[in-house]
Amino acid sequence: MPAKIYAIANQKGGVGKTTTAINLATALAANNQHVLIIDLDPQGNASTGLGVEEDARDNSTYEVLLGECKPLDSLVKTDVPNLSIMPARVDLAAAELDLADAEARNHRLKAAIDDLIAATDRPFDYILIDCPPALSLLTINAMVAASDVLIPLQTEFFALEGMSQLFKTIEAVTEALNPELTIEGVVLTMYDRRNNLSDQVADDVRSVLGDKVYDTVIPRNVRVSEAPSHGQPALIYDHKCAGSQAYIALAAEMLRRTKPAEAAE
Ligand code: ADP
Ligand code: MG
Repeated sequence: MPAKIYAIANQKGGVGKTTTAINLATALAANNQHVLIIDLDPQGNASTGLGVEEDARDNSTYEVLLGECKPLDSLVKTDVPNLSIMPARVDLAAAELDLADAEARNHRLKAAIDDLIAATDRPFDYILIDCPPALSLLTINAMVAASDVLIPLQTEFFALEGMSQLFKTIEAVTEALNPELTIEGVVLTMYDRRNNLSDQVADDVRSVLGDKVYDTVIPRNVRVSEAPSHGQPALIYDHKCAGSQAYIALAAEMLRRTKPAEAAE
């Protein structure tokens, strides 16, 4: 089965894209899936959150997109078995300009992933692309390379604000660049069960987006927010906390949806 490639996208910052990339990837890897995270945000939070030091990022998404290194040479193994990352450095921010006149500039990441898949001995089951908080050339590259878009949505009053812009972008990519692209699902993050508003927002989101919304909801959980400063996924930092358990449930739900035969074994 070819790799499922998810662009984890939402142009709003702070909605849980990186947290979802790290912890969903870890939970999938724990299910014996071979997983790769591509850090496509110049902030490099996914790289830092997985404990990849700056000096281990000589070959990063920047060099890969600019064609300055082989994609396979950029991969760093994380402490989580089955989980590798293509790290990012701050200079990825310059890629937008540096690629402005480049040939096939929207398809750079797709070409790199094709090259990577052809070069690797062990095929990936899941590739999760952690997008920057903008509908920029980087995010377009992710959507062109992806099979699906996974949208983290913060369970707050303005949750749906900006969604139409995101959907328009996905539609434009589908029409012009990647007809195969679909929306895999929407995951509600930072749900606060003590706050009545959270329930109301979750209901609203479900009534608008229907079964695209995962049953699993990620609660607001302080352990989840502490984990990155230790360079660890929450699932390793505190396996038992409510946030980790929710990401384990999300991975199980995703495996049921995408690999029904295997999950039933
Ligand atoms: P994005 O990548 O969309 O900008 P992040 O994943 O970096 O968002 O999350 C934004 C902030 O919220 C981070 O400080 C992160 O640790 C925190 N956070 C994310 N998910 C949770 C959660 N479930 N509970 C508590 N804090 C969270
Ligand atoms: Mg992020």
